Amino acid sequence: LEDVKKIYKMGEIEVHALRDISFEIEDGDYIVIVGPSGSGKSTLLQILGCLDRPTLGNVYIENSEVSSMPDKKLAEVRNKKIGFIFQKFNLLSHLSALENVELPMIYGNVPTKERKKRAKEYLELVGLGDRMDHKPTELSGGQQQRVAIARGLANEPAFLLADEPTGNLDSKSGKEILQIFQKLNDMGKTLVVVTHDPTMESIGNKVVRILDGAIESIEVKKNGNT
Ligand code: ATP
Ligand code: MG
Repeated sequence: LEDVKKIYKMGEIEVHALRDISFEIEDGDYIVIVGPSGSGKSTLLQILGCLDRPTLGNVYIENSEVSSMPDKKLAEVRNKKIGFIFQKFNLLSHLSALENVELPMIYGNVPTKERKKRAKEYLELVGLGDRMDHKPTELSGGQQQRVAIARGLANEPAFLLADEPTGNLDSKSGKEILQIFQKLNDMGKTLVVVTHDPTMESIGNKVVRILDGAIESIEVKKNGNT
C-alpha cells in the first residue's frame, strides 16, 4: 500500500477514513491490524481485498497496481488472489458446508471432481471432515467460521484477509480459529487479521496499529510468531 487515502463523501460531509497509509505485506507474513472502532480497519481491509478502491494512492499485489484496474480485472484479481473471512461468516444458508466451500471454485471454473476433492480437503484441514453435509444453521458459530475459512482457501489465494474473525465467537471457539490461522501460516499462507481487541497483538509476526485512519506504529516481532 502506498499513500492510500479513503474519503467517504456523504453529501456535504467528508469522512477521512484512511490518511496516507503505507506498508508492505511480505509473503508468509501474519499481520494483525489493531485499532479502536471507527479507526478505518475494515476500510483498509476492503481496499487490500479489492472489494473497494482508495480515493488516492496505490495498491500493489504481486507488483501489479490494482487500484486503477477496470472492474472486471479487479474482480479477477479478487477471485484469484484473495480469500476473505468476515465477522458474520457470510455463508449461504441453503447450501451445505461442502457446497459453500465449492462455490468460489465454481466461479473459478475448477472442474467438478477436482472441486469436490479440494472442498473436502479444506474442510478436513479445518477439522470439519464429519460436518460436510451440515447446513450453516446445523453448525455452531465456530464451526461456521471454520467453513468460511475453508471457503476462503478454496481458490488457493495468495493471501487470506479476516475482519474481526473471532468477534462473534465465545473465547474457546475464537482460540480454535486462531489456532487454525497459526497452522495455515506455518504452512506458508500469508494472513492479515483485523481486530479491535488489543489482546490479539500477541498473534502474528507484525502488528500494525491504526488510529483515526493513520498508522500509529508498526511492530515487527523479533522471533516471528509468539
Ligand atoms: P469497527 O472496529 O467498529 O469495525 P473500523 O475500524 O472497521 O471500525 P471502518 O468501518 O473502516 O472502521 O470505518 C472508518 C470510518 O469510515 C468511520 O468513521 C465510519 O463511519 C466511516 N465509514 C465506513 N464505511 C463508510 C461508508 N460506506 N460510507 C461512509 N462512511 C463510512
Ligand atoms: Mg470494522
